[in-house]
Amino acid sequence: MPALDVQKLRKDFPNLNLKVYGKPLVYLDNAATTFKPQYVVDAISNHYAHGASNVHRGVHFLSEQATKAYEDSRQTVKVFLNAKSTQEIIFTRGTTESINLVAQSFGRTFFKEGDEILISAMEHHSNIVPWQILCQQIGCTLKVAPMNQKGELLYEEFVRLLTPKTRLVAMVYVSNSLGTINPIARVIKEAHSRNIPVLVDGAQAVTHHPVDVQALDCDFFAFSGHKIFGPTGIGVLYGKQQFLESMPPYQGGGDMIASVSFAKTTYNVLPYKFEAGTPAIAEVIGLNAAIKYVQAIGLENMAAYKKELLFYGTNILCSVPGVRLIGTAREKTSILSFVVEGIHPHDLGTIVDEDGVAIRTGHHCTQPVMEFFKVPATARASLAFYNTKEEIDILVKAIYRAKEIFK
Ligand code: PMP
Repeated sequence: MPALDVQKLRKDFPNLNLKVYGKPLVYLDNAATTFKPQYVVDAISNHYAHGASNVHRGVHFLSEQATKAYEDSRQTVKVFLNAKSTQEIIFTRGTTESINLVAQSFGRTFFKEGDEILISAMEHHSNIVPWQILCQQIGCTLKVAPMNQKGELLYEEFVRLLTPKTRLVAMVYVSNSLGTINPIARVIKEAHSRNIPVLVDGAQAVTHHPVDVQALDCDFFAFSGHKIFGPTGIGVLYGKQQFLESMPPYQGGGDMIASVSFAKTTYNVLPYKFEAGTPAIAEVIGLNAAIKYVQAIGLENMAAYKKELLFYGTNILCSVPGVRLIGTAREKTSILSFVVEGIHPHDLGTIVDEDGVAIRTGHHCTQPVMEFFKVPATARASLAFYNTKEEIDILVKAIYRAKEIFK
């Protein structure tokens, strides 16, 4: 496996040259959102500068060009996820919208009072709240599979919670606040052995390693463009065709119809049935560029390097007196959540920011995880393939400075 030339690749990202408070920026907030390579920025600005037009609507040159670029991106996503067909690739605003779509279209249509939806204890709010809304609407119940003190799914407990009433398992693949990689293939197999479909929240997983939805055999898979070096405002819902065919539209409007009259409206074929209104065309084009960028480097190459960074970061953070890692799963990705004794994470975040270090502090949209670990918040350094050991050292130095201040 070729080693990454990180210094060379860093040049692709204009933001990595930024200075904050006169200091070089150390960006360690990649789980919140990733920086965009110039290649992606160019793809978006090229669309606006040389041919911005609407898709699927005109026969004129620019509209056809925009439509082709838009549908090319769908093809790229199809290959990226190894979906069977582009009909299974729905463009949404992001992971959040993808999950809400499934809750409101699939759940609201096919679940009934007393049915159960099973999630895990480490879900992002976007894989909790849509199900709670659905539960309020139709009277179904949300069940939660617990985790252990390392932040690992208690698999036997998960299996125990699968009942004849379970209609869906919705689970995060890679936890954004703990870094845990869930045994998602096993989860899917287990659920399928009871004929229960599975939705995978892949928001953090897509940058971690290649995803093959056919090999996983998941029924739905959601991710966001901005976590994989692409634009905000664009995401994907993959769904197996037989499910998507059976589901009613999520929103009504232009593009999602075959014909409209006041008496009766018929809907468009997949995937357009779920893409009402003018879509985020530039963002779809940007996502295409982002995926191609990632594919050119190779997710496996990135993962191997990030594993090194994780090992280095874990060791050095654990050597700092008073630092406690939150999330120590055996299988984890390059996310380091931690607390420092005697310093509130928000204070820590503010102090390291003065040294140019951007980390995330807070509950990371996983309040139940904070409650489980009995902490108000954590500080989180989330590492991308463009980060370096030197940057981790700068973070650690900044933590020591914070400790001096709070001594
Ligand atoms: N799930 C996970 C695991 C996430 O990390 C995030 C983003 N932090 C989301 C869901 C929601 O993604 P978005 O805000 O892009 O819709």
